[in-house]
Amino acid sequence: MSLLTNVVLPSTLVGDNSAGYELYVYHGEREHPCAPGNKWHKLQHHLKAAQQQGAKTLATFGGPYSNHLHAFGHPQVAPGFKKVAIVRGELQPQLTPMLTDLAKHNVELWPSTRKDYALGMNSQRVNDINQVNANVYWIPEGGGGPLGALGCVDWANDILSNAPQFDTWVLAAGTGTTAAGLLAHKVTPEIQVFSALKGMAQQRNEILELAMSLSSSDVVSQTLDQKFVFNTDSHFGGYAKYPKELADFLFDVNLANPNLHLDPVYTAKALHGVMARMKRQTWPYRKTLFIHTGGLQGWRGVREAQNPYRNI
Ligand SMILES: *Cc1c(COP(=O)(O)O)cnc(C)c1O
Repeated sequence: MSLLTNVVLPSTLVGDNSAGYELYVYHGEREHPCAPGNKWHKLQHHLKAAQQQGAKTLATFGGPYSNHLHAFGHPQVAPGFKKVAIVRGELQPQLTPMLTDLAKHNVELWPSTRKDYALGMNSQRVNDINQVNANVYWIPEGGGGPLGALGCVDWANDILSNAPQFDTWVLAAGTGTTAAGLLAHKVTPEIQVFSALKGMAQQRNEILELAMSLSSSDVVSQTLDQKFVFNTDSHFGGYAKYPKELADFLFDVNLANPNLHLDPVYTAKALHGVMARMKRQTWPYRKTLFIHTGGLQGWRGVREAQNPYRNI
């Protein structure tokens, strides 16, 4: 399957003036079948660091539907390590499909109260796990941090070699790690980022700082600042909120583009952000590349009637 495809822009979604726009998708969700999308890239430098430190156990954090935990848990990702996951929230009577996959793949699951989970590396759970395992390498939530972002600088090279000439790249953000990595790459075009979370305006600076810390010294910070647009108006109520308006949008996109499958938590919101701007005629680019960051396993947490791809 091709990694680069054209998106049909129906006038119902982008208005009648769509002729000036070309929209393509870079299909990150078709890369690395064991761990599709951005999460594979975010893990690579963490895994190298774990090896270099001689760690025996890898541990990380995530919610019960987390795409990061799902990628982390796949047996082809980091074989040879014992794997431990701290799962946000108390143990439920039934595991989610994502957690069932992890259990099948022998990932040790440690439920955690939301309160303790929020303490991150200072939580009791981290302490517990360090007590019973020697030599643990901790991967931040979502595969984040500078090493996570560094993997996305590498990813920018892959994307550029498949899709060299675009006026802008678009992607969805959670922690913003992926955005920072793509931004830090020397020759990426303008980066339009859409936050999937509510109330994240302050995150622009954090992303910019992380990107600057990774850039080679000849990329001046001003350049990064100028090529970075951070949008906070397309979160649809907040993280993992999937209102009817967003579902309707995905059904419409699907009618015109049956082979384009978005995820409900991130990519759907970012694409809506782009198309809404096209419709308002405030999208300032001709050739747009939408970076698909994966996450399709997340559909298993959505009711069937709201899933446009349930029959595939
Ligand atoms: C995790 C994830 C993101 C967000 O990536 P960050 O690096 O945390 O900003 C975007 N899209 C999908 C599908 C994801 O799973």
